[in-house]
Amino acid sequence: MRTIYWFRMSSLRLHDHPALLAAAEGSSCLYPVFCLERRIATPYGENRRRFLLESLRDLDAGLRSLNSRLIVLDGAPEVALRAALADWSVDRLAYQLDLASAESKRSAAAVDALAEAAGVQVLARGGHTMCDLDALLRRAGGSPTTSYAPFVKHFEAEVRAAPIVARPAPSRLPPVGGEATAADDAARAVPAPADVGLPADADAAVLVRGGESAALARLDEHLQRRGGAWAAEMEKPATSPMALEPFGAGTRSTTVLSPYLAFGCLSPRLFYTRLAAEAYGRHPKHAMPPVSLHGQLLWREFFHTCAHGTPNYERMVGNPICRQVPWGDDKELLAAWAEGRTGYPWIDAAMTQLRREGWIHHLARHAVACFLTRGDLWQSWEKGAAVFEELLLDVDPALNAGNWMWLSASCFFYQYFRCYSPVAFPKKYDKDGAYVRRWLPALANFPAKYIYEPWKAPIADQKAAGCIIGKDYPKPIVAHDVASKANMAKMAEAYAAHKEGGASKAAATPTPKRAAPAPAKKTKQMKLK
Ligand code: FAD
Repeated sequence: MRTIYWFRMSSLRLHDHPALLAAAEGSSCLYPVFCLERRIATPYGENRRRFLLESLRDLDAGLRSLNSRLIVLDGAPEVALRAALADWSVDRLAYQLDLASAESKRSAAAVDALAEAAGVQVLARGGHTMCDLDALLRRAGGSPTTSYAPFVKHFEAEVRAAPIVARPAPSRLPPVGGEATAADDAARAVPAPADVGLPADADAAVLVRGGESAALARLDEHLQRRGGAWAAEMEKPATSPMALEPFGAGTRSTTVLSPYLAFGCLSPRLFYTRLAAEAYGRHPKHAMPPVSLHGQLLWREFFHTCAHGTPNYERMVGNPICRQVPWGDDKELLAAWAEGRTGYPWIDAAMTQLRREGWIHHLARHAVACFLTRGDLWQSWEKGAAVFEELLLDVDPALNAGNWMWLSASCFFYQYFRCYSPVAFPKKYDKDGAYVRRWLPALANFPAKYIYEPWKAPIADQKAAGCIIGKDYPKPIVAHDVASKANMAKMAEAYAAHKEGGASKAAATPTPKRAAPAPAKKTKQMKLK
């Protein structure tokens, strides 16, 4: 049996990889391939391209240690694999399922169709999630639940029926056929950074390095912190969105394992089983879902199940779980938010970190997503999700769309009258504004008293800090108190229209325009997951 193994963007590892193990079984030749459109500018940002190349290099090294190698084919999967199926006369094509997005399903369906047309057998196995998502959907009665508590019950029942087991990496792999490795060896190697349009200094703000080896080392590090106690006690709301060094022992941040889970460098099942054994097993009084670390893995599974079972999940229109809200459409407001020039330092600092490092803490994502949508700017969550898709290292369409729906109160969370203040919220974590100073050098010398509302600083203080508001740093793009109240009223209208059974009744309302900022006051705090 001659088999092609198709590594996808979400399965770049050797450990706990049932589809790879099954592909190796009974194969006399195994062709491990990854499809990359080298000549086409990739739609995602530099951070993600760099992480991808590092992950491919690490995967290639791992395969070589098993007497194999990675063959990087040029082109989209449905094009590159068509040629490979014919050139190598294979009998079987294998890959790991990825049900996170309509695009990943479409791509797999296209590949299945061309394999079928070529008379090639297809072998697909799970592994991107902890459970079989169809089994979880069946436990929910066929369509996904949008509440976490019942989902946890379904998950636990499913785990009792089909325990989560992480499998070791293969100890050997069948050889790669000679026709794939000979003369054009270099052409099929993992490309150099320049080949995918990465500048020489692309790693200037690298937060985490790509690859399975780095993922496993990071997991070890977290599980060893305080003999497993850190992971056992970790409660998400107690972590800080403003940790200056999000990664490393002693940080008050979360694990930053999300890029590895998104690219499949780390198996969620390995994470879950090791967490159970090495942290919870040793510290029985551990934290519990929804805020615990395993609670976070359950959130991941929850959103994957929702994405798999919901038509048009990544859009508002035609999405049965999403409230229809007449969002505004203002390119200028969207650009100011995306480029970190709203005039609200906490929001701008978070968007700057996101652009530079490709990652921000969950609560920073909460704050910027709320600000763009129902909080302040009244722009569509789909627009925000698209900006995140461009900038995030850990893009996962199921998690991205799901969390954007949550923060915009379009689904999952309905207390739209609870809103993040871009002034009061950051003060709770970082009174002096060290995080803002780090990411917005223009405000580096600003007095702490005005760091989250610099437009209120007397001109003498602005001059002393070397930062004139309106010249060196923007004035606020909207007045938070005015805009958030107006937006709550619009949300109330949209909810009422939804209750009456139609989005059309919620008439389009104008976008908040630049108004003189009113003094910020404390808003009702959001319930944090
Ligand atoms: P930890 O707290 O250490 O959690 C461990 C793992 O659990 C994460 O790596 C992640 O896989 C999962 N997880 C944690 N929080 C969530 C959550 N709320 N929902 C689902 N799974 C979760 N996460 C992504 O991986 N990709 C995205 O594209 C993405 N987009 C988001 C968009 C918005 C608007 C918001 C509010 C959140 C988004 N998240 C996304 C979820 C979450 O913010 C990140 O998973 C988390 O911050 C990653 O950091 P971590 O690995 O340190 O998380």
